[in-house]
Amino acid sequence: MRFSRLDCRRRWSDDQGVVSVGEAVEMILKEVSPLPAEEVRLLDACGRVLSEDVRAPRSVPPFPNSAMDGYAVRWKDVADTSVDHPVTLRVVEEVPAGYVPKARVTENSAIKIMTGAPMPRGADTVVRVEYTRSLPGEVRITRVDGPGSHIREAGEDIRKGQTILEKGKLLTPADVGLMASVGKGRVRVYRRPTVALFSTGDELQEVDERPKAGKIVNSNSYTLSAWIRQTGAIPLRFGIVRDKRRSLAAAFRKALRYDAVMTTGGVSVGDYDFVKEALGDAGVQMQFWKVAQKPGHPLAFGRIGKKPVFGLPGNPVSSAVSFLLYARPALLKMMGYRNLFLPVTQARLEHPIKTSAGVTEFIRCRIRRQDGQNFASSTGTQGSGVLRSMSIAQGLIVAHENETHLEEGAEVTVIVLNPQDFLQPEMGF
Ligand code: AMP
Ligand code: MG
Repeated sequence: MRFSRLDCRRRWSDDQGVVSVGEAVEMILKEVSPLPAEEVRLLDACGRVLSEDVRAPRSVPPFPNSAMDGYAVRWKDVADTSVDHPVTLRVVEEVPAGYVPKARVTENSAIKIMTGAPMPRGADTVVRVEYTRSLPGEVRITRVDGPGSHIREAGEDIRKGQTILEKGKLLTPADVGLMASVGKGRVRVYRRPTVALFSTGDELQEVDERPKAGKIVNSNSYTLSAWIRQTGAIPLRFGIVRDKRRSLAAAFRKALRYDAVMTTGGVSVGDYDFVKEALGDAGVQMQFWKVAQKPGHPLAFGRIGKKPVFGLPGNPVSSAVSFLLYARPALLKMMGYRNLFLPVTQARLEHPIKTSAGVTEFIRCRIRRQDGQNFASSTGTQGSGVLRSMSIAQGLIVAHENETHLEEGAEVTVIVLNPQDFLQPEMGF
């Protein structure tokens, strides 16, 4: 199960520009589509999505070959073999895998053959080595498995020209190997979006600067770059922009040559929150600027041409949650993905939680596994500036708009934040 359009309807406000979580997801995904394709080498193809069907340029196996270590023979010569009536054949050649037999198998002769070696002319059957005894220049056969046994025919797995992978397939390591096996060294996939990332705020400084009075580190830029990268897109960090409408607009204009634009901060109602206006100045058509959710209520979304522009909130948790809910699925869609949402699981609440009516709340939680069940408990204070709670959290409990409290023991939906980290022991190996 995945988090998508959870039952989140608008019911809260007539305030223009406010949308529900479900509406926000829908509006954003409507605006984005897969980027044009590019050709990549096989080793860069894993995790990318095919933009065209892949047909096999060669057959697999490319030639008939032996499926066993043994002897290539004519069935006619060995058909009557049994333990009591062994047959002895002349061995005229030995073919290891990777070499082509020179001789031909003729009456009462055999060629010793290894797994994967091409079948010699004249032979129609392979007798496995376990049923034979080697003698000088000869082989004694005591058992056979039947006519035509242990031969892999050319094209048995894949025929030349056959479609082996379809457009839209998310490429796995096995797919990469499969393409290699048919000699397909390059492949066309949807391009990865470049994301121009700005942090706005006079209070910000960079991580390697000496701490200055009144300043905090621009941590959002790192959180978001890491998420963007984990999503498979390409973050381009444009650093810090001051809270001035003109500097913001100038910075945003430069960013519009990339596939997506992402800003943090400056989208709420403070005296220095100019991002929305500055995006407008830069030509971005704003679609909404508030979502009925917590955290991350102020959240601007617009587009310029086909490019999405995300004005994420400044608070570290709000921007991270908003990224996961909205920007991540959009970037995945741009890369051709069909599964756009984080996985969800069901869990029992370990304690009651009060929630606000009219907004969808995402409560950071730990997930404990016991007797085949998940148990979710809040990470504690849910302040949207407490990034550590996001680091501790394994999931986000979803509390719907119409709920005001969740009871202890209630079954809740939890968005799994780091599926790799959330081990379900009985599924582990
Ligand atoms: P704003 O949305 O601009 O009002 O920012 C809200 C709060 O988020 C600010 O007071 C900062 O504490 C914090 N904040 C804003 N931008 C960043 C950032 N890039 N990195 C870390 N914290 C930030
Ligand atoms: Mg600010």
